[in-house]
Order: sequence, then structure tokens, then C-alpha cells
Amino acid sequence: MPDLPSHISPVYSPRPLSVSSRISDYDLDHDPPNSTISPAFTPPSTPGTGTPASRREPRSTPVDTSLQRPPRLLETLPRVECVVRARIPTVTGAEMFLHLYQNNVDEKEHLAIVFGPHIRSKSLDDPRPGETEMDRMIRGAYTGRLHPGRTSSRVDSQPRSAPREPIVKPTPSTPLVRIHSECYTGETAWSARCDCGEQLDEAARLMSLPSSTGGVIIYLRQEGRGIGLGEKLKAYNLQDLGSDTVEANLLLRHPADARSYGLATSMLLDLGFGGDTGIRLLTNNPDKVRAVEGPNREVVVNERVAMVPLAWKTGGRKGIHSEEIEGYLRTKVS
Ligand SMILES: [Zn+2]
Repeated sequence: MPDLPSHISPVYSPRPLSVSSRISDYDLDHDPPNSTISPAFTPPSTPGTGTPASRREPRSTPVDTSLQRPPRLLETLPRVECVVRARIPTVTGAEMFLHLYQNNVDEKEHLAIVFGPHIRSKSLDDPRPGETEMDRMIRGAYTGRLHPGRTSSRVDSQPRSAPREPIVKPTPSTPLVRIHSECYTGETAWSARCDCGEQLDEAARLMSLPSSTGGVIIYLRQEGRGIGLGEKLKAYNLQDLGSDTVEANLLLRHPADARSYGLATSMLLDLGFGGDTGIRLLTNNPDKVRAVEGPNREVVVNERVAMVPLAWKTGGRKGIHSEEIEGYLRTKVS
């Protein structure tokens, strides 16, 4: 873990911006780059390493959707169950716990990427009839750390051999949450048509800051705004023929955005974020705030944290460079 200089205070400056503020209202250091950017595109480096070195907590905007008319959401939330969890050390040095969920509405394996040791899944921890301690440890329902010879899922009796790191007490803050929809092209195949890979890296970076109390990326398997990879590739061809993202989807007879967030709400509830706990939601999309809260505001978003594209933040020095990404971002934030 990187060291935290003791003088760093988590910067939190709520600003009286309305929920409908656009990304362009945020004071960026530079204007968006011109459209003539070098074609020299190198695939994204390992996750998290391409992001700026700022260790400051992100800026939040308070939100209150209690008076807002709810969007059309399904009346009942899906049922979800975390079936397995495992510790994953990452290339940035931060550790996370990958939680795999099953549910009663689709056959996909949705994920919760959990940073910090304090966030636990209720459905994972619940005892299962007839299971042994070994069963519990294999499915990840243990406290502390696994080590060879451990026999109890609940008590980690082994004294630590390595010297303990000095404990830096993080300032308690509302947990940071990102709802991220799968994007094979942007996250795995180095696509510069969208900024999904960059956003995933940035969310992980913010949640593993030394000053952070952790957070969760809910990773939903809804490729291409919910239309699937095959249809997304057709949409790309339409975009090369002159349509923007939204028009291309409509031409393919898909809704402009077919994503839904009920599963995310259920997963957040399972991870203990229901009721008054409140979350800080990392998003540029104000409509997503109310959708994530669920039909009866089962989860409450207290603050919204904007995600400014790296290329805008750095005047084009970092981030994704391509003709396509600029059109994409223009459509996305407008
Ligand atoms: Zn993408």
C-alpha cells in the first residue's frame, strides 16, 4: 500500500450544484482537446497505472432525490445471492475482494468488486445448511485472511509473522460506489471508441486511495448499453457511416440505453448499503442516481461524484485519444 503523508487531509468540498449540472460545468484545468489528436494510440497500460497521481479524495456534489418523481422502475427488486468471494491482489498494490453474484432474473454472473475489509455480503456470510468450515472458507465466507492450515472460517488464530504496517485511520466517509456496465471492447480489447476502461481504472484508483474507507464497483454484465456485443459492433458500423451512439441504437431498433439497475440496487442492499447508510455515487449521469436508489429508495445516494475524462482533465496529455471518443463523449455528456 502506498504511504499516506500524515498531513494529507481528505478534501471534501461540497458545492451547491444542482443534480442536473453537466460535466462541462465542472471547472476543468483545460478545455477538451482539439479533434486533431495524434493517431499514435497505445493500448491502455495495466489497470490503474495510467491515472493521475492525485491522492486527493474526489469532489462530491450533494444530491437529494426525495422530491424527484421516480423513473419507471420495476416494482420489486431482483433477488441476488453472493455465491463466492475471493481476495485479489491487484497490479497497483491495492487488494480487492471479488464477489460473484447469481440472481433470479438472468443467468449472468454479475460482480461486486469490493475495496476495503469492512464491506461484507450478507447472503455470502449467511450459514448454509450442512456446510462445513472448509466449505465456508472455499466459498469465501471467512473473516480476516486465509492461510495454510486454517480451520475456522470465523476465527483467524494465526499471529501475523510480517511486521504490521502502521495503521492509518481513515476518516469515516460515506462509501464510494460505481455502477459499471461491462464493455468488452473498452476494457479488454483496447478500444478507443469509449472510455469504459479508463473509468473502471479511475473508480478502482479512487476506492483504493490511502484516505479512502473503501468502496464497491458493481460490475453488471450488460454489454453495449444492454444490447449485447454483436449488436454493439453493428452500432459501431453505423457510427462509421455517420450516426452517433444514440441514433445507431435506434436504427437497430434498440432503446438508446437498455441498461437497468435493479440488480445493482439489490447487490448494494446485500452489501449493507440499505436504509440510512447512504452512498456516494461515481457518475456523470444524474438520471442514474435515482435509478440506482431502487423503486422505494431502498438505497439512498447522498452525494454524486463526477468522473471527468482524463483527456479533458489533462488537456489531452493523458487519457484516450481518438476521433471516435470525442463524438462519444459529446453524446454521452450532453
Ligand atoms: Zn465502452
